[in-house]
Amino acid sequence: MKIRSPIVSVLGHVDHGKTTLLDYVRGSTVADREAGGITQHIGATEIPIDTINKICGNFIARLSIKDTIPGLFFIDTPGHAAFTSLRKRGGALADLAILIVDINEGFKPQTYEAINILKMYKTPFIVVANKIDRIFGWEVHEGASFMESFKQQAPVVQTELDLKVYDLVGKLHEEGFQSERFDRVNDFSSQISIIPICAKSGEGIVELIAMLLGLAQEYLTEQLEIHEDAPAKGTVLEVKEETGLGVTVDSIIYDGVIRDGDEIALMDTNNLVKTKIRSILRPLPLEEMRDSKKKFKKVDEVVAAAGIKITAPNLDDVVSGSPLRVLSDEEDAEAELLKELEDITVDTDDEGLF
Ligand code: GDP
Repeated sequence: MKIRSPIVSVLGHVDHGKTTLLDYVRGSTVADREAGGITQHIGATEIPIDTINKICGNFIARLSIKDTIPGLFFIDTPGHAAFTSLRKRGGALADLAILIVDINEGFKPQTYEAINILKMYKTPFIVVANKIDRIFGWEVHEGASFMESFKQQAPVVQTELDLKVYDLVGKLHEEGFQSERFDRVNDFSSQISIIPICAKSGEGIVELIAMLLGLAQEYLTEQLEIHEDAPAKGTVLEVKEETGLGVTVDSIIYDGVIRDGDEIALMDTNNLVKTKIRSILRPLPLEEMRDSKKKFKKVDEVVAAAGIKITAPNLDDVVSGSPLRVLSDEEDAEAELLKELEDITVDTDDEGLF
């Protein structure tokens, strides 16, 4: 048994800062690339535990987190169609979610929609109260932890922030959740942490990352156990035409192993599609991408968690949100799998949610 990194997605109302937050998380670790910083996947970014330890070491120590998971695996594209179409399915793509709310605007329609999805899939989540720099009088401290920056604010600014946090606590209460500012939470299994952040300056990001790690290690390790030799399970994020490659699918593999030449099953709008993998692609490191026109490198196999691009015949009508399964040789297993896939209705009518 191997433990994989938890898959984390960012949800929230449009313009509340999903893209800016993901950019910051990626950017703050890119500097560390040479020290084994980040691993770029197709559609996702993985931050290994060593890097996380370097960025938020003392918070991790304070939360007495043991590093049993290899890192955090962030889905790059927020509000992806895959999440919308997954609504009608029996499972969620993410193990953990960040619900982002503009602290000055509060809850908006898509915030409620996101909460409903998190409830439906019972996905553990953290609320981040973004754009604290817009609170009147807030003094920005680039890259500081929230607590450090908060201590240096004028008392009236501190009070204003807490009033806004309590607005969120009230809204979450109406939705059936107990919550508190993260440093006042005494039971993480029953209370949701609210972390005030500024996605632009990075204030509060160390606490956010440490908290995600803590939650994953406390509550998710069983779910994160993968079967390294089992046929892979994944979800299609996107179906894309690529020059020279034809129609490809970008997918996140969350269990098992997938190999070049494997037979896979996916869904188009109504039917099962069976095909054979022609190639599995990963992104080339950025430095190499600059020197050549190539964006991808071919690999023979990958083990979960991974974000990959697959080329194969018959992918034209596959839909984002579709499950992806490697078919094993045993006939029984295949029959069972086909039944499972046929029961899934992929919902393609919805407009984007996040
Ligand atoms: P998304 O639609 O949720 O992905 O939101 P974006 O990340 O695109 O952010 C929407 C706008 O808010 C952009 O103009 C961002 O620059 C801005 N923004 C995001 N986070 C912050 C923040 O912490 N502070 C401030 N002042 N602006 C922010």
